[in-house]
Amino acid sequence: MSDCIFCKIKDKEIPSVPIYEDDKIYVFRDADPQAPEHVLMIPKQHITGLDAVTAEDEPLLGYMLAKVREIAEQLEMTNGYRVVINNGEDGQQTVPHLHIHILGKRKLTWPPG
Ligand code: 5GP
Ligand code: ZN
Repeated sequence: MSDCIFCKIKDKEIPSVPIYEDDKIYVFRDADPQAPEHVLMIPKQHITGLDAVTAEDEPLLGYMLAKVREIAEQLEMTNGYRVVINNGEDGQQTVPHLHIHILGKRKLTWPPG
């Protein structure tokens, strides 16, 4: 999508720090990290958020979740990590392109704010 910031990041029109990339997903460092390690995994396909997911997207979502462990290993988050998907206004989603936050390298608190 032409005016989507994460589509522009995926297309390298906006610079980012790459962590992992393949034909389906792109993983890059969050510009405003909330933990010593904080990366975002996005599908290359523009999907607005969890609310926009269809049955056709199920394999892609499964693929993304299954990739998380690989990314965590690559980033040496050996003591655990947290996976977050914010959705919609109450979920405080600020970028309308589906993304999985992966946070780690500190003891994270619970419940979230
Ligand atoms: P949300 O609040 O939608 O769940 O998460 C959006 C995330 O994208 C935020 O953590 C924010 O720091 C990150 N973000 C927003 N704009 C940019 C950008 O231009 N580059 C990078 N690397 N991260 C961004
Ligand atoms: Zn997009």
